[in-house]
Amino acid sequence: MSLDLVVLGGAEEIGANCLWLNVNGTGIIIDAGLHPRLRDVRALPDVGLLADYPLDVAIITHTHTDHLGGLPFLLRRYPHLRTLMTHATRDVSHVMLHNVGKLLRREVMSVFGSEALEFYERSNVEFLRRTFDVADYGESVVLRGFDGVTDVSTTFYPAGHILGSAGIVLESNGMRIVHTGDVQFADQAVLKGADLPRTHADVLIIEATNAASTVPSRADETKRLAAFINNVSERGGSVLIPTFALGKAQEVLTTLYSAMRRGSIPHLPIWTGGMMLPVNKIYDAFCYTEPMKVPGFEISDIPQRRLTRDAIRTGEPLREPSIVLVPSGMMNPQTMSHELALQWFQKKSCGIAIIGYQDPATPGAALMESVAGKPFTFGKNEVRRTCDVERFRFSAHASLDTLVDYVDDVRPSVLVIVHGEPEACECLALAVLERRPGMRIIIPRAGQKYSLISRSDNDQLRTPNSSSGVNGHDVNSAEQIGTVD
Ligand SMILES: [Zn+2]
Ligand SMILES: [Zn+2]
Repeated sequence: MSLDLVVLGGAEEIGANCLWLNVNGTGIIIDAGLHPRLRDVRALPDVGLLADYPLDVAIITHTHTDHLGGLPFLLRRYPHLRTLMTHATRDVSHVMLHNVGKLLRREVMSVFGSEALEFYERSNVEFLRRTFDVADYGESVVLRGFDGVTDVSTTFYPAGHILGSAGIVLESNGMRIVHTGDVQFADQAVLKGADLPRTHADVLIIEATNAASTVPSRADETKRLAAFINNVSERGGSVLIPTFALGKAQEVLTTLYSAMRRGSIPHLPIWTGGMMLPVNKIYDAFCYTEPMKVPGFEISDIPQRRLTRDAIRTGEPLREPSIVLVPSGMMNPQTMSHELALQWFQKKSCGIAIIGYQDPATPGAALMESVAGKPFTFGKNEVRRTCDVERFRFSAHASLDTLVDYVDDVRPSVLVIVHGEPEACECLALAVLERRPGMRIIIPRAGQKYSLISRSDNDQLRTPNSSSGVNGHDVNSAEQIGTVD
């Protein structure tokens, strides 16, 4: 029995997440993302590396672009792949893939060419959606490799990250592999925290996004955001909130509505627009079947005004104190958030609350770094802002403590750390080794093949090089523990 791993994206970064597993001869790809930042050949996973390997199924953990955005590209190259995801993930997928298609045509066409990207055409995305297989949480789906002999059972569990997000359990001939996907163990405003099995696994593949940072508590950030909104609205201004259209927007909108109902902020008009509107509808469609904090609560029950292009052009949201929630698009030129921010800069009474990650090379990051009254470059323009700007964090990723607790419960023979900057991966490895000295930990390098498990029928389960597990704090050498071939 054997398990091999190649990470194609998301090794020591939050990139074009994609990894390949050979589970007893069945080739399984988990996620196929678009890199959130890079727009050269590294924008999409290097799927050509898999040409000589068994490939049977692609499993998608959730619909964030860095996990789903490369799927049409992968399927164009390997059209025979069966594709498996949760119901909600399938339903959100076409909204996200339409958007990725636009982005790719604008930003990376010169690298991949029109042929490689033809699967992102609207009609193809619709077609692909109909070919995706789906499974409920807790339902086991049996995958059979091309040899027609070996079975791998796949089961999804709620990952608490965004609608439809799943952790994956793979089981084959007594071998058990868990992949957390992007995971949040704590409850959010809309979604309940992850409910992943806490029983032993031979291999645990875990994300590390927040492992090197202290994330403020949701309660503290909610109070701080309420104080910011109160300050701005008391002086007659409006608050602009650029945020991710999928997941974060629904969480923030629900947080604001709860704050209004509690009386911690006034009942201001809330304007919403762009891609978050179709996503809201899909959240509502799953309000009874997904693990929601308040089953049956619909995002569309929150009173909202539709932010049209006309309303933006005429500056309607600025006529009275209001809250404007728009997809951030990192505040790049031609986005709603960019256009609105230019109006906000002129108004001393107004405020911009930035929620969510802003890449350092984008206008959103330039705005976060800017000082009121001092010139800064915002897209193509040199501008000054008079409005207030503040950053808030409502993370959909697990804290270091909850990650380590999870590893401790699962007690894997091999721990593989992905989806984090190098510092975050090392922090998690170090924290785990403090709790469980000797655990075999791999922080894989992109493109390298790791043999994680090998076992003959008469053998006990054997993890190659397991004798070389490190004790103590030598995280750098933890990277070397895996068998690389
Ligand atoms: Zn995600
Ligand atoms: Zn991610």
